[in-house]
Amino acid sequence: MPQPNALTNLLGLTEPQMVKFVQVQEWPAYRAGQILRWLYQRRARTIAQMTDLSTRDRLTLTQRATIQRSTRCTVLQSQDGTRKFLLTLDDGMTIETVLIPDDQRLTLCVSTQVGCMLDCGFCLTGTMGLKRNLKSCEIVDQVLTAQDQLIADERITNLVFMGMGEPLANLDALATAITCLTNKSWGLGWSPRRITVSTAGLASRLKDVAVLGVNLAISLNGTTEKQRQDLMPAASEIASLKSLIAACRRYPLPPNRRLTFEYVLLAGVNDHPADAQRLVKLLKGLRCKVNLIPFNEFPGSRFRRPPDHDVLQFQSALRQAGIDVFIRTSRGRDVLGACGQLGNSPAGHEAVTLTPIESRC
Ligand code: SF4
Repeated sequence: MPQPNALTNLLGLTEPQMVKFVQVQEWPAYRAGQILRWLYQRRARTIAQMTDLSTRDRLTLTQRATIQRSTRCTVLQSQDGTRKFLLTLDDGMTIETVLIPDDQRLTLCVSTQVGCMLDCGFCLTGTMGLKRNLKSCEIVDQVLTAQDQLIADERITNLVFMGMGEPLANLDALATAITCLTNKSWGLGWSPRRITVSTAGLASRLKDVAVLGVNLAISLNGTTEKQRQDLMPAASEIASLKSLIAACRRYPLPPNRRLTFEYVLLAGVNDHPADAQRLVKLLKGLRCKVNLIPFNEFPGSRFRRPPDHDVLQFQSALRQAGIDVFIRTSRGRDVLGACGQLGNSPAGHEAVTLTPIESRC
């Protein structure tokens, strides 16, 4: 329960909440937009920076509100240029955000939960269990902090919600954060086309992603009910493979957009030619592309990465069936920053050598 005199976190307010906050202070309505622009477009870290507010109003605001950002950011630099940011939240918990350079793109992989309630067998985050949902301000803060860390003329081109956690299990905070990221008049002004939300398969909530206008990716990884139950037991319990594909077929895909299916390739488990054929059958008639992700090993994992030859064969089988299919280059594996590697190393395993290049408050 918030204390009666607790400071309001300005970064945690939605636009209507900011309008109400301004009304309570008996300030003119335009002040809501002014404060929002300071937060997101001018990236104020302190109320003192809001210099188009009078000194008196800034003092009042300081007494009643605060701007809550992560308290610490440690940057781990991979040899391939990927940067993993370890962000400390105000309650001391840590989340991870990964900046991935790739050809013309600079993609930021954003987390939505501390840990994850699902237990996908190929994912380190899943071994942590769910600690808590992130607040919308903690989701947006990952983008603001990564932008603060950019060097020279770097610019983040794409945002993917594929970090720690299941985004659709924290839908309200995700939706508020996406509003802050995409609003053009006071927010960060991102095009929804450059944002992708990935789900492990919460079929009943796919329609909520459509409302946000962003791209949808589905982490599939299995081509039979049994395979998905083995690999993604919790997600399979929420929605069977059959109901997930049915929800994808109902998805109101805008023109010129397509669904993305993510498929983590696990040696000897789901990388057989028969898996490729079943995948082709499952996706028949869907406007989609497939991203193949050769498994990124982590300490304690029971799975192995398939040899390149098998990965290429799998790709070729899909391609021959007319499916657009890409092999996701693994980035940041040396800093456990690649897909499925986010989270704490399980106890009892040798620590992976990380290279902190910067640490600041
Ligand atoms: S793959 Fe995604 S949904 Fe599955 S355990 Fe990892 S973070 Fe959670």
